[in-house]
Amino acid sequence: MRQINWTGHPFVDAGLAAIVAIVGVKRLEDLTAEHLEKAAKELERILLSDQALGIGVEKAFAKGALSQLFPNSELVNPSHWKGETPEAKAENVRQKFREALKHDLEKAKISLVQSGDATCLVCGRQVPETATTFVRKDKMPLLAGIVNFYPAFAYGVRICGLCAFAVRFLPMSVMRTGVFNRLWFLHTQALEVAVEISKRYCWTKFNEAIAANEPLEFYNRWQTAGDAGTALYALCELLERLGEQLREAYYHPLPTTAYLFSNCLPTKDQKPFVQPLPIPNDLLIFLAKLQLKSQHAFQRFWQELLLLPEGLNEKERKTRIGFVQIVAQRLLSGESIIGMCLDEGNGQENRPPRLWGGWLGHALYLREVRKMPESKLAILERLGLSIAQSADAKKRIMELRKTDRGDLYAIFLRYVREGWLKHDEFYTLLPPNSDTHASELRDILLAVIYEWQHCQEGGEEFPKVTEEVPLSRDETLNRIKQIGEHLCQKLPNLTRWIGQLQTARSSERIRGVYLSAVQRGALSFSDFVFLAPLGDRQKMWLLRDYLLAFLFERAREVLPEEEEIAVPERTALENL
Ligand SMILES: [Zn+2]
Repeated sequence: MRQINWTGHPFVDAGLAAIVAIVGVKRLEDLTAEHLEKAAKELERILLSDQALGIGVEKAFAKGALSQLFPNSELVNPSHWKGETPEAKAENVRQKFREALKHDLEKAKISLVQSGDATCLVCGRQVPETATTFVRKDKMPLLAGIVNFYPAFAYGVRICGLCAFAVRFLPMSVMRTGVFNRLWFLHTQALEVAVEISKRYCWTKFNEAIAANEPLEFYNRWQTAGDAGTALYALCELLERLGEQLREAYYHPLPTTAYLFSNCLPTKDQKPFVQPLPIPNDLLIFLAKLQLKSQHAFQRFWQELLLLPEGLNEKERKTRIGFVQIVAQRLLSGESIIGMCLDEGNGQENRPPRLWGGWLGHALYLREVRKMPESKLAILERLGLSIAQSADAKKRIMELRKTDRGDLYAIFLRYVREGWLKHDEFYTLLPPNSDTHASELRDILLAVIYEWQHCQEGGEEFPKVTEEVPLSRDETLNRIKQIGEHLCQKLPNLTRWIGQLQTARSSERIRGVYLSAVQRGALSFSDFVFLAPLGDRQKMWLLRDYLLAFLFERAREVLPEEEEIAVPERTALENL
């Protein structure tokens, strides 16, 4: 007796998961010949039911939707639909399908016990010639037309009986996406996840249709939009219903890919295709952690970002579909989503701004998927709360919303001046060579603020996510600190000098201010070169910001009245 294992081939593996789902073993390796027989009976019962063949119901699943998977299969082939009455035709088709399935089952059983000289091109199993079968498009999706997907399959390939048998169960793992009429399934070697999908959305739904005497149909009842939206919505729904059982699989994810495909016969409007949508591990871990932390926050994130509610008018629906599609795509590629989830409530009467998805969800997404350091997240959360609760919150929120991203540095510097940020916190938020743009920091601040306001209205407590963490220091920050200390001790008129530095509008002017400090012995030549590197204006402006931040904090009692902080000319800004 040889064991059954994952093959790595998405269509075959999805079929294997469906077999496990119906016979109820714990591991793929536990499948025996008896299990395969039992599964075959169940498959027959479903696919040969009146409700599948279109007898007494208005649609024939077997000839319609199912043929998108297996065009011209035994259930479609017109020569099999022969007979005087619909019943006689159906009986003929049933007969043909039973024979074919039996044939595959026998070969599968041989493949399970005997070795041989033939190699299966899907799973690599060595089996006797008699246990192999040549398959083409009607038996194995996408064997033609998808050049970069198993190109060797173009003209039909020899596969073992087990793989041929397993792929017959593919319909028991397949669903449709929401808005577009496309088929999809999830390829994952996390057996519990794959099995749950097959049970919940395929076996159970087909059985329900048969019981209610309704035509069979691939499941597509998720209220969401787009391909990415559907895959994510389904993953959230599974977690919601079966968190306890599935959390481990999400926590320690195996490679998971949603395959969108159609295996239809090519026509003018439709062509067969397959498109893999990889689901990042970080995203699965994030969803599981969020649900564990707060069921309410998990539901809010899922519903507010992925749900397409009923009862929208046409315009609202269109807008919402666009939003859900883009958010879902960005989630799948681990991109920033916080900016597009800020709803300023513009144009709506008395509607306060909102953060769609909730702060808890976004903060966890930033941490788990965007890999934002905890220190940065903690600073932003605290700063956002300070702004939200300040006396002039309204003015400050407006300022944040309206400011160009280049000028945001000046706003953050002002926060240092006002004592809301320390110089090393400023540095942590906007470190050199950071890939987080100042505009994303601004969006996060607004997110915290909107969420705080939302909590106030509802009388809820703000869901604080972070704890203060010690900041790490690096060479650049240490050097800025040394230079700053030296300037504070040696410069005769520190107030005036800081004023000159913060208002200097050009690189030349900044260099001039530094030179004046060199002349007075408050800045060494090497520090001057460090602060004003030739040919790197962008770096010079950044270092100026760090130095100003230090001086604002260290020399708070002697700061100039002048509030304005000059920002770089446009040319230096381009890569900022
Ligand atoms: Zn095989």
